[in-house]
Amino acid sequence: MPRQPRTSANKGKANQVKTSQEVEEKIPYISGYKRPSENDSKKAIGFLSEIPVEFDPTPSKDNCVFFPHLPDPTHVDDWLAQYCEDGQTYKQFLKECPWLSSRKRKYMSQEFKSSGQTIKDKYPDGKVYIVPIGAFDEKDSMFFSSLIEYTSIFLGLPVQALSKVNLNVEDGNVYWVESPKSKVSTGRRSSRRVKQHQLTSRYNPDTGHLQVCVDSNLMQLRNLIPEDAICMIGLTLLDLYGEESDLFVAGMAAGNERVAIFSLYRYDPCLSFSTEHWFQIEEDEKIAEKERSRITLQRGCKLLVHEICHLLGIDHCIYYDCCMNGSGHLSEDFRQPMHLCPVDLHKLHTLVGFDVLDRYKALLQYYKKHGFKEEEQWVQKRIKFICHK
Ligand SMILES: [Zn+2]
Ligand SMILES: [Zn+2]
Repeated sequence: MPRQPRTSANKGKANQVKTSQEVEEKIPYISGYKRPSENDSKKAIGFLSEIPVEFDPTPSKDNCVFFPHLPDPTHVDDWLAQYCEDGQTYKQFLKECPWLSSRKRKYMSQEFKSSGQTIKDKYPDGKVYIVPIGAFDEKDSMFFSSLIEYTSIFLGLPVQALSKVNLNVEDGNVYWVESPKSKVSTGRRSSRRVKQHQLTSRYNPDTGHLQVCVDSNLMQLRNLIPEDAICMIGLTLLDLYGEESDLFVAGMAAGNERVAIFSLYRYDPCLSFSTEHWFQIEEDEKIAEKERSRITLQRGCKLLVHEICHLLGIDHCIYYDCCMNGSGHLSEDFRQPMHLCPVDLHKLHTLVGFDVLDRYKALLQYYKKHGFKEEEQWVQKRIKFICHK
């Protein structure tokens, strides 16, 4: 079976968020998919003898199951009902991850130390960059810095914001406004006029809904990647699509390169979307503003770390309930947890070299600050488990 692409270019299938009244039925896995046994999952964590407590998947003495197995599909569009995912064990990751190779990655011009153990030793200047694309108002910029803070705690890597790419939206058309600073000056006679390039987009005048196409025009984003970048993620609040037949796409990564763009538009809990027409979107005002921001932030955090982990070489997870599980549609995505299972935590730990307990403590502070109650409780119990086992 071919492996799934590292970055899910399209999470956007028919995907109304299910209400709790809906009855969940059993749906078969895609043919050929082999559900890992408990033992397979334990082995995938990658320890030959005893598993250290930080990566121990067993329940606590008071029966807290930190890492349940993946639930069976309950919807035909669920990831494992659609894609035959073969999983990536810790051992496979060590073999495949380009960031752990003793050879410098293609296109990287920054300093490289082949003898280094972790990505930080190998690329001492390496950073993850996040660039806002299009409108982000004052409230959104707080949201944006909260996303950056989470990403840096979660990954244990330096994460920095780049200055915004301006988009000009006029009469249903979208223009990329080229910043004079983003180009190297060509000398005295260089023009000071601001250049604009039209992006491919579609607009429905009846609903006023606009979507921008993630084609080569938008992916000129890759021209902005700084020399010391490990990867760069563009984030936009505009809705995206790839092909005419799409309802929408959540985002796109530029092949094997280090650049990706994602939209947060469909993560707004106040919006509900037609499963037939890309331009039909309804706004439901029932959610209080504070709760709306919290949910959007939580979804955005999960999306960002999931996609950056892909760019770091971590594939989809089939071993436990985990933020690296694939998702076939939005409600499946929203159901998944924010934490990494022991298999993927071990991968990230080897790649970056953080202290697992310190990372959990920093995440706890973050969850408290932003009111992520469920995750706060989870991580608190996990810390207790690690300290007292
Ligand atoms: Zn993915
Ligand atoms: Zn996992």
